[in-house]
Amino acid sequence: MRYILVTGGVISGIGKGIIASSVGTILKSCGLRVTAIKIDPYINIDAGTFSPYEHVVPHITDAIQEWVMKQAKVSVDDDGAEPQVCVIELGGTVGDIESMPFIEAFRQFQFKVKRENFCNIHVSLIPMPNTTGEQKTKPTQNSVRELRGLGLSPDLIMCRCATALETAVKEKISMFCHVEPTQVVCVHDVSSVYKVPLILENQGVVNYFCQRLNLPVDMRHRKMH
Ligand code: ADP
Repeated sequence: MRYILVTGGVISGIGKGIIASSVGTILKSCGLRVTAIKIDPYINIDAGTFSPYEHVVPHITDAIQEWVMKQAKVSVDDDGAEPQVCVIELGGTVGDIESMPFIEAFRQFQFKVKRENFCNIHVSLIPMPNTTGEQKTKPTQNSVRELRGLGLSPDLIMCRCATALETAVKEKISMFCHVEPTQVVCVHDVSSVYKVPLILENQGVVNYFCQRLNLPVDMRHRKMH
């Protein structure tokens, strides 16, 4: 099983859901069996009913990891076959207190399932204030730093922006977020969200996953409509 965790930075409602489902779509178009999990990070614990000898943290983070592994195996195909890839969308924004147990669970999870089976897409915002008309990278730099501080490192930084990313801006994100330029993906505003899978495909996202996660895809037989 390969896991792709989609996290978000800077603001909520940035397009994580669309990106997670678009990634699923392009991987399905490669013939892979893909499933998805959406996590809304709210935990409901009644402190009055649980033992003072128990700590929350190891139990919660272990429970999250076990639950993810169990759900990922549930078939979503008619033939009942186990999925090969699980795309996990973590709701909210990295740094929110309610998502902390989930971030910590995935920090541990990447070692449990091994690095070659786990990767992270961090969805961030590149604002363009009217006053300067420039695409600004600082919020992305800060959110990637925050993500790294919590023990997760982005494999792909997907930048939500009003218009396509300028080359110099892409290079700046690569330089200051410590990733290759090919790991910076532009997801600009489009008239229909059904165009997002094509935007990802055109920037080599399928190739990237095939190599990074060693996916069993024969690129010669790829068709994208
Ligand atoms: P999140 O999961 O981060 O809360 P969503 O995926 O639900 O965000 O997207 C928030 C809103 O933005 C939705 O209305 C969605 O249709 C829209 N949206 C997402 N990506 C794009 C895009 N590339 N271009 C235009 N609208 C988008």
